[in-house]
This record gives sequence, C-alpha cells and structure tokens, in this order.
Amino acid sequence: MPLVRYRKVVLLGYRSVGKTSLAHQFIDGEFLECYDPTVESTYNKMLMVGKDEFHLQLVDTAGQDEYTILPHSFIIGIHGYVLVYSVTSLKSFQVVKSLHSKLYESRGKTRMPVVLVGNKADLSLESRQVKTDEGRKLADSWGAVFLESSAKENQMTQGIFTKVIEEIDRVDNSYGEQ
Ligand code: GDP
Repeated sequence: MPLVRYRKVVLLGYRSVGKTSLAHQFIDGEFLECYDPTVESTYNKMLMVGKDEFHLQLVDTAGQDEYTILPHSFIIGIHGYVLVYSVTSLKSFQVVKSLHSKLYESRGKTRMPVVLVGNKADLSLESRQVKTDEGRKLADSWGAVFLESSAKENQMTQGIFTKVIEEIDRVDNSYGEQ
C-alpha cells in the first residue's frame, strides 16, 4: 500500500484578502460572495501530488495585521505556509511582509516552505495596488514560490496547495545539501 503522508499548512494574511474563499474553492470547489469573518477553521483533504498521496490539514485563520502576535500553534508542528495578500490592497501586501519576518524569527531563522499568493487577480487593473512584479520580487527575496490567483474564478486554487506540498518536500530535502 502506498504511504500517505501528512502535511499541516496554515493560511495567513490580512483580513478579507480571500483566505477562506481560497480554502473553500480548494475543498468544495465553489465560491461564496458573502463575507463571514473566520475565527479559525481546519479542513482536511486527501490529494495526489505526483505519485504520492498526501493528507493535507489546512488551517484557515482569522486574519492578522502588523501588530498580531503569532501563537505557538502557528509555529509548532506546521510544515508550510500560504501567505495571502490581495492585489487590490497595498496594506495587505505590507502585512504579509511583517508576517513573514515574524515567522522567520519564531522558527529560528531556518528555511521555511512558503507560497506567497496575490489573490483577487480577476479584479480590474484600475483597482490594482500591487503589481505582479512586486509580488514576484518579494517571493524571490524569501526564496518562496509566487502565484497570483482568483478564488472567484478558480484560478490557481488547486495549484496553490499542490505547490505548498512540493515546497515542503523541496525545503526538507535541501537540508541535507547545506
Ligand atoms: P478572508 O477574510 O481573508 O478569509 O477573506 P474571504 O475569503 O472571507 O473574502 C473576503 C471577500 O472577498 C468576500 O466578499 C469574498 O467573496 C471576496 N473574494 C475573495 N476572493 C476573491 C477573489 O479572488 N476575487 C474577488 N473578486 N473577490 C474575492
């Protein structure tokens, strides 16, 4: 029987950037227009990445800002992170920068698997506040994966979670090379 590997991933970012919508598209394959602030929810899904089967436990959080103190439960036992901002909110882009540095400090400045997601890419160019290039540069500076997505149009929503699983394996395997 093939081995099922367990991975626990946390979705972090400023409020209203689309964390719950991305999780919901990934888990149930649908988009909800309404805005219902999350306290914290955990979802479980089995998925195949390459030839391997994974049990992904996804923690959707309430949303953070620059002043949030990250709880230990976001550090201990967490394999990877999806940091989400909205391409229509410069503030949310600043918040992911602050979250990344807090995670990096809390995890003892070790390499960590991160996928940076610029969500709401379906919205018009006039409402954009963060260019694609700025997102990519930020992710490059972290050595992270970068994607733009739309939970509304279901662009890249599966890809985000496949990427984070691949990134967890990549970072794990690269420890031996250091
Ligand atoms: P969260 O607070 O980060 O979990 O954000 P939500 O998932 O609750 O989404 C906040 C609002 O943005 C809701 O009204 C969603 O319908 C909307 N939303 C989320 N993702 C997208 C997206 O990709 N495109 C558009 N146009 N709206 C989105």
